[in-house]
Amino acid sequence: MTSKTDTHPRQLWEAALGHLQMEVDKQVYETFLKETTGLAHANGEFVVGASDAFSAEMLEQRMYTLIAQTLESVVGEEVEVRFTVESAYLSDADAYTNGASNGASESPSPPAMRSRNGGTTAQSRMLNPRYTFDTFVVGKSNELAHAAALAVAGQPGQLYNPLVMYSDVGLGKTHLMHAIGHRLAGRGMSLIYSTTEEFTNSYIKAIRDGTTDEFRDRFRNEDVLLLDDIQFLIGKEQTQEGFFHTFNALHMTNRQIVITSDRPVTALTLLEDRIQSRLAGGLVVDIQPPEIETRVEILRHKAQPYAARGQEISDDAIHFLAERIHRNIRELEGGLNRVLAMADLLGIPATIDLVKRAIADVVETAAERKIPESAVIGAVSTHYGVSVEAIKGRKRDKKTALARQVAMYLLREESQLGQTDIGRTLGGKDRTTVKHGCERIANQLNVDAQLRRNVISIRQVISES
Ligand code: ADP
Ligand code: MG
Repeated sequence: MTSKTDTHPRQLWEAALGHLQMEVDKQVYETFLKETTGLAHANGEFVVGASDAFSAEMLEQRMYTLIAQTLESVVGEEVEVRFTVESAYLSDADAYTNGASNGASESPSPPAMRSRNGGTTAQSRMLNPRYTFDTFVVGKSNELAHAAALAVAGQPGQLYNPLVMYSDVGLGKTHLMHAIGHRLAGRGMSLIYSTTEEFTNSYIKAIRDGTTDEFRDRFRNEDVLLLDDIQFLIGKEQTQEGFFHTFNALHMTNRQIVITSDRPVTALTLLEDRIQSRLAGGLVVDIQPPEIETRVEILRHKAQPYAARGQEISDDAIHFLAERIHRNIRELEGGLNRVLAMADLLGIPATIDLVKRAIADVVETAAERKIPESAVIGAVSTHYGVSVEAIKGRKRDKKTALARQVAMYLLREESQLGQTDIGRTLGGKDRTTVKHGCERIANQLNVDAQLRRNVISIRQVISES
């Protein structure tokens, strides 16, 4: 047997690294592999130490097969590879220093970040200085998108390319996109931020004026492309062609592309299939409307600078606002600004009474816009292929039960009905059944990506009805 089990694991791993260095992209090597060590090799198991948990995770998830094969060729026998954080493996004493550098979890230190962000490069001038990771409030509804944005900001071009973020309007897509941009510009990367509308106009102009070279220079020469609101490309076949080539040129050279859309990739009909499949080939994450806790948190966050200047808003006023304005964070901000402006003008405190006055018309229009129950139930029925009668009936097979519970949830969220009314609307269900149904869907939405996609498309149909 040619087993080399007794050779020091460190040397075996060095040899494997020599091979891996030739196999993988330079940046990937530098980021994830360079600092790794062979820690142990016994009983068919080979332990590789990484400098932090994030790298260990990435190696395991993204490079397991390649690493195992490489090691096997070096070691001369089959090995099971295990990745661990080196410091944690060796001793507790120096775990502290390495644990701190976990790229996946953010521990923002605002002053340092500000100086790194600089905010003065040509690239970062295109970005809204307020849209940073620091000012983004994370809750259940957006934590996936936030985590993905952070990961991309940490490892551009390597992990998720393209990153596609989608949601209804006013829920933070552009904010996260700019946050990525600030991070990368702060690290000296060049980027271009463009709305898809600008992109389209430049492209059409370039074709018309015969300046496609310049167009190409502009969009293909940066490290990162941030393209906002891609749904604007729908039905614009010529520009889709231009986008496709831009995308390929950047993607092939591992440049990070971040895209936002106000609808799921699959709902971008009239976008050429080849573009859809390019988008779906990256990571697609959604942002849901924020739940009440997140809305309150966002308002608190946004009220802070005012409070620092002596413009306080009471806690019950914040709660009242958060309860009334629930679908769109931009409107939520607008409501708060309005209350604070009124308080300032009138020289009175921002109490719940003032909020009632300040947003009276907003609340009224929200009520006017109140979605009829039939629109919600109809959209759910069409989406799941379950008849309205069945949704209102007693059948309890899986499909019907799911459609019914989604209807309950959306009646609560979209039509603002109370549990008793929802029960009545759905053929006389009692309120605990409704409560249970709504809770079940709310919980499932956090873990079930398919359900999230379904709920978003149903909402889209409802809002277009
Ligand atoms: P979208 O691009 O999805 O339409 P935006 O990114 O423009 O939405 O967000 C609308 C407004 O709401 C912006 O002012 C943004 O800063 C704010 N906003 C959205 N999500 C959050 C959040 N999680 N925390 C703080 N502010 C947010
Ligand atoms: Mg936007």
